[in-house]
Amino acid sequence: MSYIRYKNNKLFIENVSVNQLASKLKTPFYLYSEGNIVENYNSFSNSFKKSKPLVCFSVKANSNIQILKILKKLGSGADVVSGGELLKAIKSGIKPNKIVFSGVGKTEEEIRLAIRKNILLINVESENEALLINKISGQLKKKTAIGIRLNPDINAPTHKKISTGKAEDKFGLSKTNLISFCLNISKLKNLKLNAISVHIGSQILSENPFKKTLKVLEEIMIKTKMHFKFVDLGGGFGIAYKKNDRKINLKNYSSLVEKFRKKYNCNIIFEPGRAILGNTAVLVTKIQYLKKGSNKTFAILNAGMNDFMRTALYDAVHNIIPVIKNSKKNKGPLEFVGPICETTCKFIKYNKYQKLRESDYVAIADVGAYGASLSSNYNTKPLIAEVIINKTKARIIRKKQDIKSLLIQ
Ligand SMILES: *Cc1c(COP(=O)(O)O)cnc(C)c1O
Repeated sequence: MSYIRYKNNKLFIENVSVNQLASKLKTPFYLYSEGNIVENYNSFSNSFKKSKPLVCFSVKANSNIQILKILKKLGSGADVVSGGELLKAIKSGIKPNKIVFSGVGKTEEEIRLAIRKNILLINVESENEALLINKISGQLKKKTAIGIRLNPDINAPTHKKISTGKAEDKFGLSKTNLISFCLNISKLKNLKLNAISVHIGSQILSENPFKKTLKVLEEIMIKTKMHFKFVDLGGGFGIAYKKNDRKINLKNYSSLVEKFRKKYNCNIIFEPGRAILGNTAVLVTKIQYLKKGSNKTFAILNAGMNDFMRTALYDAVHNIIPVIKNSKKNKGPLEFVGPICETTCKFIKYNKYQKLRESDYVAIADVGAYGASLSSNYNTKPLIAEVIINKTKARIIRKKQDIKSLLIQ
């Protein structure tokens, strides 16, 4: 089922008209479909049903506590990358034994917090981080469960700014270093090496890099002869932002994962973010001004790169769709831009677009992942509201930030 669609030329999220909602609430705001989130989670976890994986939603993709609560109810754990995300995951009700903590630069304070909370795994990204965790665990008289993150040196075709699994990327340990780490782990008395983890990048649309990663993992299993209780295969599953983006085929990969799981008798963990949230939200925004440029029309929106950063940060393509469709045409090309005083505060250009008027509403599509969580107060703009639809009901899950809170310093 499609949760975000047109009925009689009007954009609907589930059973709510976006136009009606936008007339009631102040734009801009993020607008999610709860049904869509539930469907994505279930469909992801069904693709790997045979392996019964622990799905740890990647909190950095969307860290709204109300959304985490929805995922928690579906059985999700959490993959966190900071102490703040760890606290949010726990506050949303996710049990520490379903939380993994990744990141190359965990601070002493964050490590202490993770150890005290007894989370499932701290996924270690360097030898020296392991030494620090070992030392703190000793002070706290604990034996801490860790995973070790592999950098498999695999080039996953994606934007260079979201690749994480090549030798030149800062993440994880190379195969050689990881093997010698594993062979020396008994020296670190306060650690239990329970997992090997890997995450090769984001928005990956082909299954091949994932398959290659499994091969590197096999090699390590053979060379170290170690048994890992968990194998954490990370996230990175891409979604179709553009019409012709190919869809990743999880069927074939999932049978390879199941073979691997049986052979090495381990529990599988996944850390999807985008695949669960990406297509579940739009950003509803108003056309503040139309302006004639020399060879195009600018539609200046009241949402900017501070509200939604992916286009400016990664050249990401996000369609902008009308809230009410019409059959008239704009004269010449049209470019959607935001108000922030940066040239990169622009979204997308169309050679053909329908006729628009000032004060019309439009919606930036597929903004559920790395949307709200990446937003900022740049240009001293308050963070915008987040609203979620369940069937006919709209619920505010983040109030627009009070401008007063920005006037303290
Ligand atoms: C960001 C991240 C993820 C999630 O990536 P998606 O592309 O959103 O699935 C998973 N694991 C780690 C370690 C990450 O840093």
